[in-house]
Amino acid sequence: MGELLERLRAGLPDGAVAVDPDVTGAYARDMAGFCDAGEPAVLVFPETVEQVQFVMRTATELRVPVVPQGARTGLSGGANAVDGCILLSLTRMNRILHLDPVDRIAIVQPGVVNAELSRAAEARQLAYPPDPSSWESCTIGGNIGTGAGGLCCVKYGVTSEYVLGLDVVLADGRLLRTGRRTAKGVAGYDLTRLLVGSEGTLGVVVEAVLALRPAPGPQLVLAAEFDSVDAAGRAVCDVMAAGFTPSLMELMDATTVRAVNEMAQMGLPESTRALLLVAFDGPDQRELLAAVGELCTAAGATEVVPAEDRAESELLLQARRLALPALERMGTTMIDDVAVPRSALAAMLNGVAEIAERHRLTIGMVAHAGDGNTHPVVIFDARDPEQVERARVSFDEIMALGLELGGTVTGEHGIGLLKREWLARELGSVGLELQRQIKAVFDPLGLLNPGKMI
Ligand SMILES: Cc1cc2nc3c(=O)[nH]c(=O)nc-3n(C[C@H](O)[C@H](O)[C@H](O)COP(=O)(O)OP(=O)(O)OC[C@H]3O[C@@H](n4cnc5c(N)ncnc54)[C@H](O)[C@@H]3O)c2cc1C
Repeated sequence: MGELLERLRAGLPDGAVAVDPDVTGAYARDMAGFCDAGEPAVLVFPETVEQVQFVMRTATELRVPVVPQGARTGLSGGANAVDGCILLSLTRMNRILHLDPVDRIAIVQPGVVNAELSRAAEARQLAYPPDPSSWESCTIGGNIGTGAGGLCCVKYGVTSEYVLGLDVVLADGRLLRTGRRTAKGVAGYDLTRLLVGSEGTLGVVVEAVLALRPAPGPQLVLAAEFDSVDAAGRAVCDVMAAGFTPSLMELMDATTVRAVNEMAQMGLPESTRALLLVAFDGPDQRELLAAVGELCTAAGATEVVPAEDRAESELLLQARRLALPALERMGTTMIDDVAVPRSALAAMLNGVAEIAERHRLTIGMVAHAGDGNTHPVVIFDARDPEQVERARVSFDEIMALGLELGGTVTGEHGIGLLKREWLARELGSVGLELQRQIKAVFDPLGLLNPGKMI
């Protein structure tokens, strides 16, 4: 420990090394409930690629584990400390280095906050589409670490589709450059894609080349009310089967609607069992919303209300972004992230309701419905051991149901600590073995984010 601190202090600028347990403790975990966090030895804030290389070289020489961190908004324990580790916060590497309208790329450091990149792109009539609800705080490095999704994935896809190339510091301090900054390129194995979603277990992202799109312009949102989640799930399938590609299709159940109203007095309709938000950007928005409204009505919507204008649309989107924080005010939460084929969405929503009833628990439902990506939020009283046990069992049953329906245990939040045992079930023994072999190639000493993901 003494030697580690001495070397880090000698090699990093003043103010870049913290050891005060109050400070390091505050950085020891992300936003996932029910994940253990170890005691970090030290927290460092490098500002350059060379400083990250220095930290990794030092860690390798002294055999110290390293946990890379962005904004710690993660929901799987992926950024949690392990005992005796270096917490490597990339938040001070937060510059947009280049934004190019001809090549339609941005080159950014990992600590850039998602919404800041979006705003910078918008100022040049461009867009960086991946938009997690946490976009005002989460970082591009964390988005790449988790392979983040968001609200607009139903039309624009997830983070992996926008990462063209990466600069990555490996466990031994070497700098790896992957991918390209060209529109096309297929040279060699696609290490870029491998690194996206690797949860800090293969290397530390220190720079990223990201694809941009022409700015699509504002979205117009429609709110459809249903008297069952099942009917809302069917409406999602009908909209997709009819060939529409909305820019957003999100679902909130009655529990979530009430929680959002309580938190922010949004005036959402509390009598609805499921509120479906559907949006279009681009031309003919009103006509498209009208057609989708008809499909929703045919699927059983009791009320269909298109927003009048951009301001009303933005309010509905804001309500959706508040869903998780609002549910978190109701008790201790465990947030699932099961994605199923869209065609199985109604079965998934029904199954979760059945699990909630059987275990006598409130499970709020928020879903990126257009992607089949559900976030059942199990709410319980952490002071009651019997309730905690029921919550854990429900959380697991939800994942088992997702796999049964042909889905995955994580659509966007990652495995981290929370779903580690479930990875083996989803991948199978051969898949898991190969993943472990890949990890060993990048990080033979197992120092990068040990105990996470695999
Ligand atoms: C209210 C709320 C809403 C959310 N909504 C969404 C949503 O809609 N969609 C979604 O996908 N997620 C969502 N999330 C989860 C979270 O915001 C995302 O997982 C996000 O990508 C994490 O970014 P971060 O900067 O906070 O990373 P962190 O939590 O700090 O880290 C996440 C993972 O990435 C690794 N990592 C971080 N930086 C680097 C780096 N530079 N190099 C290598 N590895 C790195 C970490 O080790 C960790 O494994 C939400 C979270 C909250 C709290």
